[in-house]
Amino acid sequence: MTQVITKQAQTTNATFTALKCKECGAEYELEAKHVCELCFGPLEVKYDFSRLSVTRESIQAGPNSIWRYRQFLPVATDNYIDVGTGMTPLVKSQRLARRLGLKNLYIKNDAVNMPTLSFKDRVVSVALSRARELGFTTVSCASTGNLANSTAAIAAYAGLDCCVFIPADLEAGKILGSLVYSPTLMAVEGNYDQVNRLCSEVANTHGWGFVNINLRPYYSEGSKTLGYEVAEQLGWELPDHIVAPLASGSLFTKIYKGFNEFVAAGLVEGKPVRFSGAQAEGCSPIVEAFKEKRDFIKPVKPNTIAKSLAIGNPADGIYAIDIANKTNGNIESVTDAEIIEGIKLLAETEGIFTETAGGTTVAVLKKLVEAGKIDPDEKTVVYITGNGLKTQEAIQGYISEPFTIEAKLDSFEQALERSRTLDRLEWQQVIV
Ligand SMILES: *Cc1c(COP(=O)(O)O)cnc(C)c1O
Ligand SMILES: [Zn+2]
Repeated sequence: MTQVITKQAQTTNATFTALKCKECGAEYELEAKHVCELCFGPLEVKYDFSRLSVTRESIQAGPNSIWRYRQFLPVATDNYIDVGTGMTPLVKSQRLARRLGLKNLYIKNDAVNMPTLSFKDRVVSVALSRARELGFTTVSCASTGNLANSTAAIAAYAGLDCCVFIPADLEAGKILGSLVYSPTLMAVEGNYDQVNRLCSEVANTHGWGFVNINLRPYYSEGSKTLGYEVAEQLGWELPDHIVAPLASGSLFTKIYKGFNEFVAAGLVEGKPVRFSGAQAEGCSPIVEAFKEKRDFIKPVKPNTIAKSLAIGNPADGIYAIDIANKTNGNIESVTDAEIIEGIKLLAETEGIFTETAGGTTVAVLKKLVEAGKIDPDEKTVVYITGNGLKTQEAIQGYISEPFTIEAKLDSFEQALERSRTLDRLEWQQVIV
């Protein structure tokens, strides 16, 4: 909401120059295209960073959003969509760190990202800015929930037509969190991988901008800002270890890319950063390939409460594994019960209510610490990517009930006594 939109706001200082195949290196025009015609590899945005003119100071003087890193993002004009996405808190953990036995734990809190309370606002802000430059008037996506929320909200702000696709069995908060922006919402009877296949066909026939299909090379670049911000917020330093969730694996690979670009640009000093990834046991194709030392993913049928991570055939899975291996990190999974414990643990110790994806990440963090795979002294950043208000049903029945009382002092005193008895019982159970 910071800049006046003018059609003439073209600039000539774009740093991105082509789309490039991640596998064979073939280059393509900067269109809405995501697959290499020669080898079917994924396309990525290529930059000429000799055109960069940034310093720490110039970044700090920029907008209080992801657009302070504009020169590292694939938009050609200053006519980008800035809804205040990014610059979410990086919190030095006190009580969670102590509970886990860590001395240097930080929480990157994208549960409070703008406008729709998940990290997806980053990728969508970039994708829709680019979609508008490419002349799209209708935008779309195949979503596990958060992406549909983001696309619908930011399309509403930008005045773009919007049709989004989700699996029909999503949480109520995720469905409502899209519908309120009045997109056309298609609830598909099937899992995410089926939704995605359908969307690939629609993208070919309707000429829409699908943020995570034909616009994917631009979209995925938005995740790099989760690397840049952490480096800047740590005082222009890289951490020793990061733990992040994996759905398609894209976010994980782009944090890595973000760190490396900041080193190459001379904004931070290079050093080894370990990359560890988190999945839910009920959808862990990347974990399985990592543990079996495979260089290919065997698709699975998801069955987990972590619906935002439930991608059975993750496009960037092998690249995520490569990074975990290269950096001496790990990729681990946790059960649905552990995910619920992870949600409660983060809430009780840090006052942050995350969704199932965050519960997954916290639970994997705990598991890695207990297995000795994170050193207590390592400067570790855990990425919390979504908000718990959207997945309330996941913890219903696993948290306590309110004390319903009459509006009378003695009714309150009785309830207070009961609550203290309950606390004592809980302690006894712990001790036994
Ligand atoms: C989409 C999503 C992720 C993972 O995204 P990928 O880039 O596909 O790995 C993580 N957390 C939340 C809350 C998400 O919505
Ligand atoms: Zn190729």
